[in-house]
Amino acid sequence: DRHPEPQYEADPSKKTLVILGTGWGSVALLKKLDTENYNVVVVSPRNYFLFTPLLPSCTTGTIEHRSIMEPVRAILRHKKAAVKYYEAEASTIDPDRKVVKIVDNSEVKGAISETEIPYDMLVIGVGAENATFGIPGVREHSCFLKEIGDAQRIRKKIMDCVETAAFKDQSSDEIDRLMHMVVVGGGPTGVEFAGELQDFFEEDIKKLVPEISPRFKVTLIEALPNVLPSFSKQLIDYTENTLREEKIDIKTKTMVKKVTNNTVEAEISRPDGSKERVVIPYGLLVWATGNAVRPIVKDLMARIPAQKDSRRGLAVNEYLVVQGTRDIWAIGDCAVAGYAPTAQVASQEGSFLGRLFNNMAKTEAHESRIQELSSKMNLQAGNAAEAAEEIEKLEKQLRRVKDIKPFRYSHQGSLAYIGSEKAVADVSWWNGNLATGGRMTYLFWRSAYLSMCFSTRNRVLVIVDWLKSKAFGRDVSRE
Ligand code: FAD
Ligand code: NAD
Repeated sequence: DRHPEPQYEADPSKKTLVILGTGWGSVALLKKLDTENYNVVVVSPRNYFLFTPLLPSCTTGTIEHRSIMEPVRAILRHKKAAVKYYEAEASTIDPDRKVVKIVDNSEVKGAISETEIPYDMLVIGVGAENATFGIPGVREHSCFLKEIGDAQRIRKKIMDCVETAAFKDQSSDEIDRLMHMVVVGGGPTGVEFAGELQDFFEEDIKKLVPEISPRFKVTLIEALPNVLPSFSKQLIDYTENTLREEKIDIKTKTMVKKVTNNTVEAEISRPDGSKERVVIPYGLLVWATGNAVRPIVKDLMARIPAQKDSRRGLAVNEYLVVQGTRDIWAIGDCAVAGYAPTAQVASQEGSFLGRLFNNMAKTEAHESRIQELSSKMNLQAGNAAEAAEEIEKLEKQLRRVKDIKPFRYSHQGSLAYIGSEKAVADVSWWNGNLATGGRMTYLFWRSAYLSMCFSTRNRVLVIVDWLKSKAFGRDVSRE
């Protein structure tokens, strides 16, 4: 169905709805939204949707990065009424003037690269940035794992470390350093990445550079007493045992304090309460310690008195309206609604807003029709009975449409890949909870993520990548 994209034309009789971001929240909203009801404008520096759950697999080439990207323009092409998309970053939001300032930060710039967009309604779905807690050296020396560029950087760096370790006359200490892959943060991102890395080693690196492969080592550093703190105790134990079997060195109760270009300095808390400072040399360092608030969100929070006590993002009410505003909604990782910052929450919030906005448009249409009929009734007594009947019908429908329940998150469970074809799952099952780990869970993980992929195109590409890397090994050419 390759029909041409409908032309966007702002209709002055409709409200302008501006949506920031093209991540889990905003794309779920766009999917549900009847775009005929509003002048819809999307602003995001990323012109594609990214299926983050499979991003760790891109760091080793198990999956090629383009297989988990879906262009925004391809998504918007399928909407009934055209949507305007600007590849730009929103830099400030002025809630008094109801305008968003946008900046084109891409490599190619035209004569204009900064302008304003007025809105009647605004949805903020800009996600979060990487937390570094101001720890010195993190930004300069480590790789994050949030965007496609991060995964590409890691993939390149792993092979660069391996090839440099294999360089003629490399000293033994230097080989150990270069082959040491350190992951900071034992949340799901860190655990999944460590698992992928170990798979890469077992299935490919061992065969390709057998002479130095025994020196390959993965260390996972976590400040808390255990990894995957949000999972159940049983699955934490299962994960830690599996990771240890995979020969991943897990250092819990270890807080990284400083990073240099080739070492990590950390503080280990001993059971007797004492603390020990250690210096760990590394070749690759991946930093996965969770989320921090983006500057645009911080700036808006500072402009709204009702947000002064909120720390982790924009506090929203049960309809996801930003507290202290009337026409601004926030979804996903930048919103604080009492749920974890996950794709599951973001996409349910986005779908909720889609339904809410569709209902609001219907309500307005019904109300103005009722008003029109009432004034007609007063003018032309002859048609009064007919109009009254229609009004009654409309009012009944209106009551139904207006009865929108507040947002409620429905948790479908948590899933994480832990390497060596094993996964862990905490899922809701027949009104109860099921905690499982192992190979069957891995097959469940694969099929669940496959079914959640954005499009059939993505699904096919991911399957082909899985088959390709299994049959021929991962592609280790360094681009
Ligand atoms: P994002 O999806 O991050 O989207 C934000 C969007 O806003 C992006 O398009 C970005 O370019 C855009 N943007 C940024 N700044 C601006 C600006 N100034 N102006 C306009 N647009 C802007 N969650 C799960 O539930 N299950 C998983 O398995 C899972 N796996 C994950 C794996 C990894 C490696 C990572 C990093 C996260 C994972 N998550 C998972 C978490 C999940 O990805 C996030 O919770 C989710 O992406 C949040 O959605 P969002 O729409 O709020 O933000
Ligand atoms: P996270 O916040 O879940 O975990 C970060 C971890 O880093 C914490 O356990 C924290 O104690 C640790 N940490 C912080 N500072 C440290 C330091 N200086 N030294 C050592 N350890 C330190 O972050 P994440 O894993 O990136 O996940 C972010 C969000 O995305 C979460 O809500 C998560 O559930 C979601 N996510 C889900 C999945 C999945 O479901 N499979 C995968 C990835 C991410």
